[in-house]
Amino acid sequence: MPDPLYGAAGPGSAGAGPRSGGSGSLSPADLRALDRQHVWHPYGPMPGRQEPLVVSSASGVRLRLAEPAEGHHELVDGMSSWWSAVHGYNHPVLNEAARGQLDRMSHVMFGGLTHEPAVRLAAKLVEITPEGLEHVFLCDSGSVSVEVAVKMCLQYWRSLGYAGKTRLLTWRGGYHGDTWQPMAVCDPEGGMHELWQGHLPKQVFADVPPAGFDAEPDPEYVAHLRALVSAHADELAAVIVEPVVQGAGGMRFHSPGYLRVLRELCDEYGVLLVLDEIATGFGRTGAMFAADHAGVTPDVLCLGKALTGGYLTMAATLCTSRVADGISRGEVPVLAHGPTFMGNPLAASVALASIDLLLGSDWAGEVKRIGAGLREGLAPAAALPGVRDVRVLGAIGVVQLDHEVDMAAATRAAVREGVWLRPFRDLVYTMPPYVSTDEDVARIGRAVCAAAREG
Ligand SMILES: *Cc1c(COP(=O)(O)O)cnc(C)c1O
Repeated sequence: MPDPLYGAAGPGSAGAGPRSGGSGSLSPADLRALDRQHVWHPYGPMPGRQEPLVVSSASGVRLRLAEPAEGHHELVDGMSSWWSAVHGYNHPVLNEAARGQLDRMSHVMFGGLTHEPAVRLAAKLVEITPEGLEHVFLCDSGSVSVEVAVKMCLQYWRSLGYAGKTRLLTWRGGYHGDTWQPMAVCDPEGGMHELWQGHLPKQVFADVPPAGFDAEPDPEYVAHLRALVSAHADELAAVIVEPVVQGAGGMRFHSPGYLRVLRELCDEYGVLLVLDEIATGFGRTGAMFAADHAGVTPDVLCLGKALTGGYLTMAATLCTSRVADGISRGEVPVLAHGPTFMGNPLAASVALASIDLLLGSDWAGEVKRIGAGLREGLAPAAALPGVRDVRVLGAIGVVQLDHEVDMAAATRAAVREGVWLRPFRDLVYTMPPYVSTDEDVARIGRAVCAAAREG
């Protein structure tokens, strides 16, 4: 009998019982029991507090469940698997890219070797990202790409003889990942990494940027940024921010004008600018990259999430020639970083196919269409008790409550509407795959409203 995890000849095929993942397929109840016993889930205790839904397959914008939930066998995915599955699931073009590459090689080490998928992907990223970003470091996850970005910036200044420039400036309300350096620039209060504040490198925090994509930059806030950058210029290696949309730190939108302000301040005071576009990259905000709203080139750019269309884990850190040359002229003229799975050919092939698919589509039109659908669908939420704000930008829709969301109740309400959502803190939000139909988007809108009402 084929083993569901390893296939017929897999390690479990030597007679272990179904409850330990051996031969025979596992029932959804078995899966949930084993999951509870052994498997850690994101941001959860062990064992988890909530029963996860068991997904058996996914296609287009639909997740197929192993057993019905609230009467639904399928859920429309309102999360794009955390911003990543922009083309939906089981896409024939991406499947073919993965299969074709699998037949050639799924992986080879990147030290001393190179291959077409990684080279072509790097060249493509240089081509589509803001002018001036010339060099690409491929890594495994968004958090690692931020680690690499920070290492690049600190090493750049060290190489130039400014060993004291080691700190980072960011604004509050941000999220940059879960490893050590990223945690140090996440929102220091109320966020999930508050526990570690005493142990993380102490960074410089500006206030949360004033809200509103369309608002003109607030002169007082600009003065606040200037005061901080100038006061700390001698110790600052870089300013790092999420451009235009602060994602997992609170789903806030701000004026692209602040990016131009940061670019100018960084140039004036000799500080590098890192833009973390792991969530915003590849069209989500209505521009291919959020930096494009401002016409700004950062010194270092982080990409991830939608890079592989949600298929495989891969991220990228891009930098300018100035940064690369600086590092390469130092006393230690190398960037000492090299993940085992760096440049993974399988992920790079799918990423290339995903980018080509995006560029070959009317992605800007689709994002605009979804945004309009969300604006219409989320509007009723504004009248609900307990709702503080409703906002939409690009293909991102957010309902902010005036209280911590009851995650179980909100999720159940969305599932009842046939939609998968994953609210957090005081937020019920969605960023649908770009292939969602108007009907899918309307359904997602109803689910967000239901979740806001019941959560
Ligand atoms: C998700 C995210 C990260 C972390 O990426 P992982 O792949 O989860 O490590 C970093 N920055 C931003 C802006 C993100 O949204």
